[in-house]
Amino acid sequence: MFRAKLVKGTMALMLIGTLFSVPMMPVASAADTSCANGYVGLTFDDGPNNSNTTKLLAALKQAGLRATMFNIGQNAQNNPSLVRDQAAAGMWVGNHSYTHSDMTTLNNSQMSSEITRTQQAIQSITGTAPQLFRPPYGATNATLKSIESQNNLTEVLWNVDSQDWNGATTAQIVAAAGRLQNGDVILMHDQYQTTLQAIPQIAQNLKNRSLCAGKISPSTGRAVAPDSTTTPPSTGTKVEAESMTKGGQYTENISTPFNGIALYSNNDLVKYTQFFASGTHNFSLRGASNNSNMARVDLKIGGQTRGTFYFGGSNPAVYTLANINHGTGNQEIELVITADNGTWDAYIDYLEIN
Ligand code: ZN
Repeated sequence: MFRAKLVKGTMALMLIGTLFSVPMMPVASAADTSCANGYVGLTFDDGPNNSNTTKLLAALKQAGLRATMFNIGQNAQNNPSLVRDQAAAGMWVGNHSYTHSDMTTLNNSQMSSEITRTQQAIQSITGTAPQLFRPPYGATNATLKSIESQNNLTEVLWNVDSQDWNGATTAQIVAAAGRLQNGDVILMHDQYQTTLQAIPQIAQNLKNRSLCAGKISPSTGRAVAPDSTTTPPSTGTKVEAESMTKGGQYTENISTPFNGIALYSNNDLVKYTQFFASGTHNFSLRGASNNSNMARVDLKIGGQTRGTFYFGGSNPAVYTLANINHGTGNQEIELVITADNGTWDAYIDYLEIN
């Protein structure tokens, strides 16, 4: 805290006019008519592998579809870059056991090992542990279900079986997808040419029926709308500080030295939710101190401090924290003061993620 509160009060009055012109965060429209009939879950099991996964991701991206990939743990372990590619393509990554055994033939500790080794392999690659588990062959029992829940996993089977594993033709796979209704999940595999060739027609079929490819909800195991902030950072996501949510006691909008936010004392912060398809990014914050003392603003992601931005004077400057590791999916980003010693305030302009 540096400024006298009275001064800030006056400043706040002067700024009221600008408050109403603050840009709104982009939010996907809930009434998006192209998804008027709801969401379906496309799932691809048994990857990743060198022969098919890259082609599958390209086909899904080309068709504008997102899907859930139930990876075999040992395949993930052996092909970490393909797992990263899945996440970077906006796919959700699930657990399909470590060795693809029929889990109902295993004892407790073997079941546990199949599940936890896969959780660890995928978490170490993407930064996030899966929330969904599909037992190989759909074979499950009460013991397995209890081990799944100990690992915070939701079991996901399917409503529609494409039969791609059983020699179905591309036309038969497309026809199977044509039976999907809101919330349903279809079983396919990251393995077959027939399945790959079905993807453009599956996309067209869903579009014709005003259905969209959704995520599978860990709470219900059914397909739902992807979270609203689903645009992954590509060549740079820039978020203005004044469009974030303010927290703390004194945080307020400013118009000099830029349109932004002033953080005055410990726990003053701004925050918002960012979707990350992958787990490492560069974070650049433009800001300044209010005087010649060093201002410090911490970067928290998902509740954990990942670095500190330093602003050594009153001239606005960009400070970059490079190669920051963080969780994937929706993460809360906070820009917060924790090192206030009463000799400076921080002004922040925008956060850029690359
Ligand atoms: Zn399988």
